[in-house]
Amino acid sequence: MGVDFKKIKNDFPILKRKINGYPLIYFDNAATTQKPNVVIKKINEYYKKNNSNVHRGAHYLSYKATEEIESSRIEVQKFINAKTEKEIIFTSGVTESINLVANCFEKIIKKGEEVIITEMEHHSNIVPWHLLKENKKIKIKYIKINRNGDLVLNDLDKLITKKTKIIALSHVSNTLGTINSIKKVIQVAKKKNIPVLIDGAQAPGHIKIDVQKLDCDFYCFSGHKMFGPTGIGVLYGKKMWLDKMQPYKGGGEMIKKVTMNEVSFAESPHKFEAGTPNICGAIGLKEAINYINDIEIKNIKEYESELLLYAVKQMSKIKEVQFIGESSKKAPIVSFILKGCHNYDVGQMLDNFGVAVRVGHHCTQPIMESMGVNGTIRASFSLYNDKKEIDYFCQKIKKIINLLR
Ligand code: PMP
Repeated sequence: MGVDFKKIKNDFPILKRKINGYPLIYFDNAATTQKPNVVIKKINEYYKKNNSNVHRGAHYLSYKATEEIESSRIEVQKFINAKTEKEIIFTSGVTESINLVANCFEKIIKKGEEVIITEMEHHSNIVPWHLLKENKKIKIKYIKINRNGDLVLNDLDKLITKKTKIIALSHVSNTLGTINSIKKVIQVAKKKNIPVLIDGAQAPGHIKIDVQKLDCDFYCFSGHKMFGPTGIGVLYGKKMWLDKMQPYKGGGEMIKKVTMNEVSFAESPHKFEAGTPNICGAIGLKEAINYINDIEIKNIKEYESELLLYAVKQMSKIKEVQFIGESSKKAPIVSFILKGCHNYDVGQMLDNFGVAVRVGHHCTQPIMESMGVNGTIRASFSLYNDKKEIDYFCQKIKKIINLLR
């Protein structure tokens, strides 16, 4: 089925907005995506017609809310091909998902043992391990990146020791756009019986995810980066791990029994979901998944790859552009600097022309360190962007270079 990507813009009401008198060109999709009408409508409808708390009340609306959230869990399960919905934990996003695993590992990891991450990680896959390092006196080791922005994986075997307890890495770099060879990392780790956590913040909706094929132990993602609402995310965990892990948050909804002296926990996923969940978020996420499924990831991937190629080709004609991250396997993310111009000035001036990009370190300061830059300008594309917008962007970049130099 051919998809008419020209029509897709109409699904996103915010794209009709003007910013500073210019039509909005939204190139900050790696930070968060815009929301289609179907998701907005569903959220609206939930609060208008079905709002209630889950699991507790024996009344129609409560039953309905419970049914909705559990059917969202099943949709997520199918979306990433998990074995069972019991492996799907709702969190507030990738940050909470990784913190959940790191906190649970506090009981599993011992002093002097090791966690391996990469130089490419978002701070949310660095800081939780640092907190663990302080509490448990463990060691954090890093897989390096090369000048292209690819992980250096040939000595991974040597990096792993008997003390390695987990490897945690991103599927796609939010700064460099690199699509990592996670399958390779997982295969090496499996040979040594080491669990692997994948930070999938930048992948679902762009790349098909099959956690069983990948054979990863944990996979996390955030709803807001795939057309869903903010404040809802997912932690997939193999049942074997979820059974072994103790909850790190306590409260309502996650217990089997509470007495004056003792508590016992519900089974997963509920044992990790203390308190009233983000019901509306989960419902919105389900709608976002339906939206993606209707268009089909293979079509999105093809269209976005074309946009990426076009952007790189057009931007390469501007001699002041220096790309940061030139892997041959990339998601639609272009990081660059303009020789002789400050990133913040460029970002501000693009905004004056209605173009939204992100500037700075993108919560990946170690990448900046290893690439030898202070920050970058990042344009990240989605299915509602088009080549005309890229032409306009390049035209404005040339103008900004002339104004700033
Ligand atoms: N990891 C990566 C690769 C990301 O891009 C982001 C968001 N920028 C995160 C983790 C954190 O996601 P969230 O803020 O939704 O928890």
